[in-house]
Amino acid sequence: MPILVLNSGSSSIKYRLFDMAQERTLAAGLVERIGEPLGHLRHEAFDDQGAHKLSESYPIADHRQGLRRVAELLLHPEIGVIADAGEITAVGHRVVHGGERFSQPTRIDAAVRAAIRDLIPLAPLHNPANLQGIEVATELFPQAPQVAVFDTAFHQTMPAVAYRYAIPRRFYDEQGVRVYGFHGISHLYVSKQAARRLGRPPTEVNVITAHLGNGCSITAVRGGQSVDTSMGFTPLAGLIMGTRSGDIDPALVIYLGAALGLSFAEIDRLLNKESGMLGLTGANDLRDIAQRQAAGDAEAALALAMYAYRLKKYIGAYTAVLGRVDALVFTAGVGENAAFVRAQACAGLEGLGIALDAARNAQAPRGQFSEIQAAGSAVKVFVIPTDEEQEIAQQTAAVLEMEG
Ligand code: ADP
Repeated sequence: MPILVLNSGSSSIKYRLFDMAQERTLAAGLVERIGEPLGHLRHEAFDDQGAHKLSESYPIADHRQGLRRVAELLLHPEIGVIADAGEITAVGHRVVHGGERFSQPTRIDAAVRAAIRDLIPLAPLHNPANLQGIEVATELFPQAPQVAVFDTAFHQTMPAVAYRYAIPRRFYDEQGVRVYGFHGISHLYVSKQAARRLGRPPTEVNVITAHLGNGCSITAVRGGQSVDTSMGFTPLAGLIMGTRSGDIDPALVIYLGAALGLSFAEIDRLLNKESGMLGLTGANDLRDIAQRQAAGDAEAALALAMYAYRLKKYIGAYTAVLGRVDALVFTAGVGENAAFVRAQACAGLEGLGIALDAARNAQAPRGQFSEIQAAGSAVKVFVIPTDEEQEIAQQTAAVLEMEG
């Protein structure tokens, strides 16, 4: 029973077709630069002979054209992996914002589509793109149930003490202003993997999960449930990221507007797209910044130190939140690959029971699970490759099973 997973962005569609019975990927790819003069599609199909790769560039007007081409490739006479579009048992969609309404993966019908639309004010860039993906997939695979898996859902278990802001209550009551948190699919996936590695059910373990990609967030997970997370009402809060500032004094926004005359649109761009590591160094890829540091660039060294310092503060805070921490997990592009970030963020945390083994950390193999704490570290430290697509596929399958 193949399940198609779609992650539709404003100008891209990331997709993966899973064979759930055999637990393997049949095909995967990315449609990029939709609506731009030159679009791009990368596709990989897997069979017993190995991988067939294909790459195409031409104008891709909209999501419909992009996904139609994906369907053609899935059915392709030579590199196709299914014989009929009707073989696809379900389509699982990553939907960024589920508000307070969605704490579980949900079968999509007209009411659910309307609810995702109602949440557009909370996710003006993402929910419209997600809806487009849903619309086009429903058209192309009309027989397949469509399921929404929300990136905010995992954090709906947070207690009010963690999710409310200390501003007048009417903003929560009337506008839904609160912490929602994001990256929930990834935090859930790696926290379950961590429990497996600890050999205990998720309900019995406490973990801190650090998702460090272009966007970064960290979550305190108690007994399998998110109890606090660093992103907030929007993904701007918390850790220092590739291009986002993370936590700042909120009055800085007032100053930028009132004293320096920046518009809301300019402040939005400044804090979301031009800040973080990019703002500090002019580059947002940590590999480039680390190279500069190695060449003696003091700004690069400071930026990396700030990145690790912010992370360390959150590890400390979430240790306090959880009381007992069984494992600290690093995941996503930076978390999985940048040993120097892990080392710097954990340095001096012996008092909290966290100590890394320098060699194991440095040698953690790419793309694999590894355990990098020192002998005697009370907290296990894991590097776990995240797999949001697989989590979406599993949750989609679970929704269908529940429906019988
Ligand atoms: P996204 O949030 O877009 O899913 P990823 O999880 O793919 O991002 O992470 C992308 C980021 O990972 C890049 O911006 C880069 O800084 C970082 N990264 C990837 N590989 C390495 C590496 N070997 N060392 C340091 N940083 C890395």
